[in-house]
Amino acid sequence: MDFELSEQHLALRTMVRDFAEKELEPVVAECDEANKFPAEVVQKMGELGLLGLSFPEKYGGSGADHLSYAILFEELGRVDLGTALTVDADSTLGGFPIYTFGSEELKQKWLVPLAQGKILGCQGLTEPGGGSDTYSNTLTTAVLKDDEWVINGSKSFITNAGAPNCGFCNVAAFTGIRADGKRGISQILVPIGTPGFTVEPHLNKLGFRTSVTNDLSFDNVRVPKDNVVGVVGKGLSQFMSTLDEGRLTIAAMAVGMSQRCLELSLAYSKERVAFGQPIFSYQGIQYKLVDMAVNVEMARLLTYKSAVLEDQGKLKEFTKEVAMAKYFAAEMCKTVAADAVQIHGGYGYVKDYPLERYYRDAPLLAIGEGTSEVMRIVIARDL
Ligand SMILES: Cc1cc2nc3c(=O)[nH]c(=O)nc-3n(C[C@H](O)[C@H](O)[C@H](O)COP(=O)(O)OP(=O)(O)OC[C@H]3O[C@@H](n4cnc5c(N)ncnc54)[C@H](O)[C@@H]3O)c2cc1C
Repeated sequence: MDFELSEQHLALRTMVRDFAEKELEPVVAECDEANKFPAEVVQKMGELGLLGLSFPEKYGGSGADHLSYAILFEELGRVDLGTALTVDADSTLGGFPIYTFGSEELKQKWLVPLAQGKILGCQGLTEPGGGSDTYSNTLTTAVLKDDEWVINGSKSFITNAGAPNCGFCNVAAFTGIRADGKRGISQILVPIGTPGFTVEPHLNKLGFRTSVTNDLSFDNVRVPKDNVVGVVGKGLSQFMSTLDEGRLTIAAMAVGMSQRCLELSLAYSKERVAFGQPIFSYQGIQYKLVDMAVNVEMARLLTYKSAVLEDQGKLKEFTKEVAMAKYFAAEMCKTVAADAVQIHGGYGYVKDYPLERYYRDAPLLAIGEGTSEVMRIVIARDL
């Protein structure tokens, strides 16, 4: 057990932190206010290789390990959760299943440009009837006719689908009852712009306003038979392992944002004077800061441990550990963001400081890619 990060991991952290502070930070508040996607920053991330970090070089990526992947999201989350989610929806939800389950032809056609940052990807799993119980609620259908899948149905809250440059969506569709009597759900890659595939207008959200979220509808959408990703009828387990990967990134994003809340609150508490003393001198404030510091560190350890388990190929342990990391980090982040607002007093509540944005952003961490309740179900299965 070695708690030191390698030179390579430290160099990646420095690079992403510099990029996020210099390129992303200056535009975040304006984009958040205007509900605007920071397209130029995302394009620059693609040019820097940050959208293909964990894919092998032969597929246009950098071949980095999962600990590096976690560090990428920690540093992006430290500056803007919305942009971090864009990268997650692209690399993890869009790219990971094609890399892990897709045919060589799909990899060449869709993964390579995604990893090179030329297109974005996304995943359409959640439907209007509910996102937690995807087994029962995947009512979108795909029927094979003349060597094409004909898709009908709708999806809710899909990140990136309406972003400029989004190339495709990995859609979950019911493809018939399997031999074992279970509902067969398949993963089908649908290019954006396919006739009958409508991306509804960008949703107006409480937080994560720098990311683009859209509902989708499919009206007799036809794609080639070979656009199925992985095994017909076994797509749900593929979506679940993709979500394990996504939980690593959400946990890392929560760690990054909580770290920022701690840094800002610590600095502010040493400057702000009340009753003749910096507020840091009061134990009531110190306790809050100490709780923040301890919880951020615990969340970071759980997150890094799950990344290392994945790098070691211990996937069963990874599923439980990363659910723990995501659950703990997301819930912790909501508390830390609220405490950071409290420590900043009135300044925490106005848009001159980023704290009110963090406070609005934090709740989604406990909803997306498996709610905190669902995380506890996953953990309980393996206790
Ligand atoms: C900004 C944003 C971006 C998103 N991006 C994507 C995306 O890119 N792709 C995608 O497919 N989806 C995406 N989602 C959807 C997201 O994954 C779902 O919102 C989430 O999975 C929860 O589903 P739901 O909203 O339908 O809530 P429901 O599943 O209806 O759950 C409602 C409540 O009931 C609780 N609950 C459900 N079952 C149980 C149980 N057994 N025990 C206890 N409590 C339970 C839940 O925890 C939750 O609190 C996004 C959502 C948002 C808001």
